[in-house]
Amino acid sequence: MKTSTRPTSPKRFYCDIFGHNYKVTKDVTEHVKEYTCKCCKRELTTNGNGRLTELTPKFKEINATLARIYSNKLARMRTRRYATSAA
Ligand SMILES: [Zn+2]
Repeated sequence: MKTSTRPTSPKRFYCDIFGHNYKVTKDVTEHVKEYTCKCCKRELTTNGNGRLTELTPKFKEINATLARIYSNKLARMRTRRYATSAA
């Protein structure tokens, strides 16, 4: 991949040297999270392999779906637990 020759912003330059300062901005599921660099606002997410990747619109869509499935699953688990304890 060829990098752009345009001048990078000082903040981005800082990140390139010292590394990004990622902060979790969203818990999608137990294992998938979204991160934003406090410094340059670059966004990352956990992909299917458990690796960090650029948070593209496509991944935002996937994460939104995952979050919906995950919350449904949690709700189901909770219901089941109540059902079991009541028996
Ligand atoms: Zn950064």
